[in-house]
Amino acid sequence: MLASTSRTAMNDEGRHSVSFDVHRVREDFPILKRRIRGRPLVYLDSAASAQKPKAVLDAMQVAQETIYANVHRGVHTLSQEATDAFEAAREKLRAFINAASADEIIFVRGATEDINLVAATYGRKFLSAGDEIILSELEHHSNIVPWQLLQTEKGIVIKVAPIDDDGNFLLPAFEKLLSPRTRLVAITHVSNALGTVTPVRAIIEAAHRAGAKVLLDGCQAVPHMAVDMQALDVDFYAFSGHKMYGPTGIGVLYGKKELLATMPPYQGGGEMISTVTFAKSTFKEPPHRFEAGTPAIVEAIGLGAAADYLTALGREAVRAHEQALLAYASQRLSALPGLQIVGRAAEKAAIVSFVMEGVHAHDIGTILDRAGIAVRAGHHCAQPLMERLGLAATARASFGLYNTMEDVDALADALKIVREIFA
Ligand code: PLP
Repeated sequence: MLASTSRTAMNDEGRHSVSFDVHRVREDFPILKRRIRGRPLVYLDSAASAQKPKAVLDAMQVAQETIYANVHRGVHTLSQEATDAFEAAREKLRAFINAASADEIIFVRGATEDINLVAATYGRKFLSAGDEIILSELEHHSNIVPWQLLQTEKGIVIKVAPIDDDGNFLLPAFEKLLSPRTRLVAITHVSNALGTVTPVRAIIEAAHRAGAKVLLDGCQAVPHMAVDMQALDVDFYAFSGHKMYGPTGIGVLYGKKELLATMPPYQGGGEMISTVTFAKSTFKEPPHRFEAGTPAIVEAIGLGAAADYLTALGREAVRAHEQALLAYASQRLSALPGLQIVGRAAEKAAIVSFVMEGVHAHDIGTILDRAGIAVRAGHHCAQPLMERLGLAATARASFGLYNTMEDVDALADALKIVREIFA
């Protein structure tokens, strides 16, 4: 067994070293003290939804107990304090992804709504019959279905960039798909099913050379690595709060200011208008134009606290810890007879999908649960990817910053038992 990591790395500002002590970090997550079926919880399903540290839970609780009111519309003190806290959260998210302006941060329900928003506004206004968009074989359904809905409405053409059998994104093949009709490239930054990190800088550069805009689905990237909107020069970036140790019901769509300014509203209602008469309404500037109705106020504050939490830990330290977990898990699982890791891309985040000869992924998940181990089993909302790999389902262990080498050992030991049961 490997000892759990307690390591030193540069913090996000690169100024001084921070140490990452996973056992101390685990103290921040009350749920990790739970026992499942009499065994200590081993939570390996962070890619589906990550657990929340006390800092996030407390920020939400305190907001509800001390400053809660509706935002942007009250003259009274509580409403002003709630508005300040809500807008301070927007600024925290701006800093978290190094966007140039807080006006580029739109709060929505999550990555699914982010992508639907871009399809319904940018897509409806700027794409017409015969225009092409490029997705990849790695995509989550939420970065496929909104474009298919647009395809039905507008007659756009969807092209799909291929991967190889290890799950690597094939850049030259992608570049061949670009054409003068390509308007948008919408690709995941990190695959939720395989962990593949896609070559986003090269994708963005090539797409921009071809005159196309780029949307990255950053859902699985933001919990694992620092992302920088200005350095990437990406047009849209989508992510969900609950995958980065924040609450559900809140996510961020980043969009370049000049692009957002050209886009029509997503939904109509309160908060997003400047004036309304029965004859005509006029709309606010972004981001408020895209935030109709009462927003998820407390959740935004919680997401701000999650961004602070990750920044304070140091995303490079988190990444280094998770890469060590990934290396150890890959080594231990590949040594198990009858087990095959699915997805062996050159660059991966800490997600390990696998299949076991003669055992259905759901049975693996059910037996692991008896040992207190939570993994995901199924198609991971990526049915076209499963079809590409010739699989119906995989089991997936996805690691978070609170996982330990002992968690990997528990998984490997329990998988040996699964094998014995089905031998
Ligand atoms: N994109 C990726 C890569 C995901 O992993 C997920 C969730 O699993 C989503 C999008 C959708 O996120 P949400 O359900 O939070 O909208």
